[in-house]
Amino acid sequence: MTFFLPEVHGAKVNSIPSVAGLALASVTARSSTRRRAASSKGPPAWAREDLRYVYPFSNGVEAFSYEPATKRHTIDYARTCWYVLMHVIAFTCGPATFSVPALLLCVGLFVSLQTLGISLSYHRHLTHRSFQCHKYFEYFIAYCGALNMQGNPIWWTMNHTWHHRFSDTPWDPHTPREGLWTAHAGWFFEKERILTKMPEAIVVSHNYTEPGEENEVYLPWFYRESPEFYDFLRETYYLHHIALVILLYMLGGWSFVVWGFVVRFVVSLHGVSAVNSFAHVWGEAPFKTGDDSKNNVWVAMVSS
Ligand SMILES: [Zn+2]
Repeated sequence: MTFFLPEVHGAKVNSIPSVAGLALASVTARSSTRRRAASSKGPPAWAREDLRYVYPFSNGVEAFSYEPATKRHTIDYARTCWYVLMHVIAFTCGPATFSVPALLLCVGLFVSLQTLGISLSYHRHLTHRSFQCHKYFEYFIAYCGALNMQGNPIWWTMNHTWHHRFSDTPWDPHTPREGLWTAHAGWFFEKERILTKMPEAIVVSHNYTEPGEENEVYLPWFYRESPEFYDFLRETYYLHHIALVILLYMLGGWSFVVWGFVVRFVVSLHGVSAVNSFAHVWGEAPFKTGDDSKNNVWVAMVSS
C-alpha cells in the first residue's frame, strides 16, 4: 500500500510509503503545532524525531544537536554574476530575438524541464516519494530536472527536505522571516549559507559521499538505489547545459538560445523562488501546517 497525499503548492505535505509514511505523518502532525516554538538553542526533540524518518539509516542524533549560525556570510560573486547576467540577457536580448517558434520552444521546454523535471521528479518523486514509477521514467524526468539549472537532484532534495522539516524556523535555509528578498533569492548568494542551517555531515555527504563511506547514512533513497546514474548527473552536471545551449543554437540560432535557455530559466527560477517567498507570506492557509506556507494560485501557475 502506498500512502499518497498530493501536495498543493505552498502547503505542508507528507507522502511517504506505507508504515514509515503513517509514522511520519503522525509525528509531523504532532510536531508541527510546536514548530513555532522552535528556539535557537538547537533543534528540539520533535525535530530530531522527524529526521530519523528522513534519514532512516542514521542514528547520528548528535549531528542534529547543533545551533544554526546567525553570521552573515560573504557574497558568492560567481553565483551573483550568473544571476544578474541571465536577467540582463533575458530583458535586453529577449525582445530583440523574439519569434513565435522561439516562444513555443520556451513554453515547451518550461513544461518539460520545470513541470516534469522539477515539479514531478525533483519535488514529488525524489523528495517526497509521492508515487512509484519505472526506473527508466525516473531517470528521464530526473534528467529533465537536471537540465533546468536548479542544482543536481541530490543537492536539491537535501535542501528541500530540510526546508520542509524546519519551515520558517532558524534552521530553514530560506524563510521570509529573514526578509522577503532573502527567501526569494538572497539566500542563494550567501557563501556557505546552507552550512549555517544544517549539519555539515549532511551537506558534505550530499556533495561527495558515495555508498560505503562514513556519511552514507545521509544519502537519499534514490541515490542508494541508482548511485551510478545520480553520480553521473552530479559529476557531469554543467556539461549537459552546455550541450543544450549548443543544440538550441544549431536548431534556431541565438533566438532559440535566448528563449529556450535564458528566458525559460529566468521564468522557472522565479516561479520556484516564489514558492519560498510569496507563498509563505500571501495566500490561503486552509490547513494548520505549523509554518507560514500558504496556497497561492498565482504562484502555483508559474511554479509548476
Ligand atoms: Zn515539498
